[in-house]
Amino acid sequence: MGKPTGFKEFTREIPADRSPLERIRDWEEFHVHTAEEKLREQGARCMDCGTPFCQTGMILNGAASGCPINNLIPEFNDLVYRGLWREALDRLHKTNNFPEFTGRVCPAPCEGACVLGIIEPPVTIKNIEFSIIERGFEEGWVVPHPPKRRTGKKVAVVGSGPAGLACADQLNKAGHLVTVLERADRIGGLLTYGIPNMKLDKDDIVQRRVDILAAEGIEFVTNANVGQSYPVEKLRQDFDAVVLCCGATQARDLTVDGRDLDGIYPAMEFLSTNTKCLLDGTEVPAHLSAKDRHVVVIGGGDTGTDCVGTSIRHGCKSVVQLEILPKPPATRAPNNPWPEWPKIYRMDYGQEEAAALYGADPRVYCTTTKKFVGDANGRVNELHTVQIEWKLDPQGRYSPVDVAGTEKVIPGQLVLLAMGFLGPEKPLVEKLGLAIDDRSNVKADYGKFSTSVEGVFAAGDMRRGQSLVVWAINEGRAAARECDRFLMGVSNLP
Ligand SMILES: Cc1cc2nc3c(=O)[nH]c(=O)nc-3n(C[C@H](O)[C@H](O)[C@H](O)COP(=O)(O)OP(=O)(O)OC[C@H]3O[C@@H](n4cnc5c(N)ncnc54)[C@H](O)[C@@H]3O)c2cc1C
Ligand code: SF4
Repeated sequence: MGKPTGFKEFTREIPADRSPLERIRDWEEFHVHTAEEKLREQGARCMDCGTPFCQTGMILNGAASGCPINNLIPEFNDLVYRGLWREALDRLHKTNNFPEFTGRVCPAPCEGACVLGIIEPPVTIKNIEFSIIERGFEEGWVVPHPPKRRTGKKVAVVGSGPAGLACADQLNKAGHLVTVLERADRIGGLLTYGIPNMKLDKDDIVQRRVDILAAEGIEFVTNANVGQSYPVEKLRQDFDAVVLCCGATQARDLTVDGRDLDGIYPAMEFLSTNTKCLLDGTEVPAHLSAKDRHVVVIGGGDTGTDCVGTSIRHGCKSVVQLEILPKPPATRAPNNPWPEWPKIYRMDYGQEEAAALYGADPRVYCTTTKKFVGDANGRVNELHTVQIEWKLDPQGRYSPVDVAGTEKVIPGQLVLLAMGFLGPEKPLVEKLGLAIDDRSNVKADYGKFSTSVEGVFAAGDMRRGQSLVVWAINEGRAAARECDRFLMGVSNLP
């Protein structure tokens, strides 16, 4: 703890993002860098607590509390305060393969568990993490380090999202020959084709890391759809072990009247097509464009927010985001105490942009859609909604009940379904004969990661269900350690 009075002297400060009305005109990232002096002050606010809850990464009340990859937060805060950036970078890389991703997109459960947060706004941990890694790249400290020795063992990692990349990085460090098989035309999983460019730049940030991994000896094969264009038999024959990191991409649908009208799409079709067009330099196809259309996003989570931000950049006429849950409170509820993840009302970037453009947060709470109605051409034109109330049912669970007299008709010519995901797609799972758990994810115990088939491991969203980048990194690293142990008998991987 470099400055014992730091938290008394300095208040929490993070740089303002680019202004909403300016940033909606492009697809560039909206975060702004912080000046070094300010960062050192922010690092000085860390109290170096005896028990740093910020780095614990436990599950409390169903959500992560503290950093899931156990970043050495008080240590790097102190190093930043002292201006020891190189040392801070080395500390950060000990636990996190990709701080440039988490420093941009992590919701920062660490900050919700920061001890200073009990009495003052928490330390700006995520922004410090972001600044350390970006400084590392600027200084030229982040360079390829190929392993000195090879074991001769071959491992296939299927899927190139954050779980697959973290797993491949660790296995390569252990000296194995790693091939990443990816069905998409670009590497990155949802880092590339999920999270939009304004949150995480593809060419400058995702590809920058992929290039380093490739220079370290990892082989990347794109357009390799395992189980279809790439036979599973080949996978088993050519490799000594397989780690599946295929994500949880099966989207939840809304099967109400009018669902088969044109203009109603899963959020991922909209978001991934948008990013592909942006990267390829082509126009978004007319049927998926929000331009001059009233857009309704069904689902109030992060995916929905990305649909809001993307629709605004297309030039939509209006955007509404329907959420079935109630509006969260402004401050922690009594049953959501520190250090749990604070379930409070927040404006994310998409809502900020909608509010700046149209005057209000686009989210409408406790609302469900009863039917879609189309125009003469068979394209969706309006949604019939009703407010709901959450009531205890005879089994003691909360269920939604329609509130009579609250029916509404809202215009919607592009409807995006962002209601969550129902686990991994099944064809590959079935071809490999893998057991499934009761949440329809691939069955593999956390900590072991071995599936029901020997030599086949599973990690990330495919095993735990749709989650966060930071959990995908956690699982990718841990699955690599178990795979290494399977191949070598012991593992020195952290
Ligand atoms: C729109 C959206 C926005 C999000 N925003 C955030 C955010 O801001 N912050 C955050 O922390 N988390 C966010 N998440 C969640 C986060 O992106 C995921 O939890 C994380 O990417 C999961 O990583 P993964 O490696 O397990 O899977 P994925 O990233 O889903 O990667 C799986 C990869 O496997 C490939 N694949 C699947 N099947 C095959 C096959 N048969 N053969 C070859 N390849 C295959 C897929 O093409 C994909 O590239 C978001 C999710 C979505 C959908
Ligand atoms: S990875 Fe996420 S939880 Fe961990 S220190 Fe960074 S922002 Fe916090």
